[in-house]
Amino acid sequence: MVVPCKICGQISKSSDKQVRGGEILQLYSCQDCNFEFFSHNPEEKLFNDQLDHSRLEGAGLVIPEIQEDYNNGLEQSYNYTKEFLDESDIGKNILEIGCSWGYFLDLVRNYGCKPYGVEINKKRKNYVETNLNINCELNIEKYEETKKRYKKIFLFYVLEYIYEPTKYVDRVLKLLEPSGELIVITPNLNDVLKDIFKNKAFQNFFYDKFTINYFSKKSLEVFLERLDEKYTSYDIRTDQGYSFANHISWHIHKKPMETKIVGGDRYITNINETLLKTKSELGEKLVKIFEKMNLDYSKAISDHDFGNRIVLKIVK
Ligand SMILES: [Zn+2]
Repeated sequence: MVVPCKICGQISKSSDKQVRGGEILQLYSCQDCNFEFFSHNPEEKLFNDQLDHSRLEGAGLVIPEIQEDYNNGLEQSYNYTKEFLDESDIGKNILEIGCSWGYFLDLVRNYGCKPYGVEINKKRKNYVETNLNINCELNIEKYEETKKRYKKIFLFYVLEYIYEPTKYVDRVLKLLEPSGELIVITPNLNDVLKDIFKNKAFQNFFYDKFTINYFSKKSLEVFLERLDEKYTSYDIRTDQGYSFANHISWHIHKKPMETKIVGGDRYITNINETLLKTKSELGEKLVKIFEKMNLDYSKAISDHDFGNRIVLKIVK
């Protein structure tokens, strides 16, 4: 089957690829864009709460209970608020697309902003509306029908599930107020475990059948050129969320370990907390060594654009 690249429209190459859970799918790749994708649309299954069955159970991991999932998400969201919100956002409309159980939006509200959500998973959408009392829609259409515009729109680990990503981002950019920002985090196709360590187990874990778009820094640059909607500027960087401990674990165990965080882990933080409890001079020295190693490790990877997540900011 001839399938054009979703970004540049040129004919892509196809190959068999094992996804999480062992199924073999046709993966399409465009070398010019450094982009890979599956050609199916996962929307209906996402709507019906199927994602975690594939993403977690397919890899032998356990689906957490709502409360545990919420607390994990909340912890990760603290970092997002620190990184992406500032005083100028207070009192402004903030939209998160793919808001899951709403933990980030809850923090956005605590920060003093007006939160709005989009969540395709019915169960989670209802949770956000009922338990958090935050306005949440199944898709962006309802928001497109109103004149309300947003100072910041967030897509954390969402773009990789969108069937027609360029069309979608064009629609999202229309919802921004002038000088508003769209902030996207998505996994990096150029992953150090997959491409440098060439860890076989990780290569079979990396691709998931619901995750249909695999972007790199390069593919997002081409992506931005292909948008119809105008914007003023953009910034793309990769950053390494997983610690070296996680990579060593992959090397030894050849399988994923539960991290409870999307795109990161707390292994080194936990080790250091344990060491600090000893209140010993050696413990403190070891903490410093681990911290420095982890920083150097992440920096080397990010400097080569191999960080496991890509952070894209578009200013309207
Ligand atoms: Zn292409």
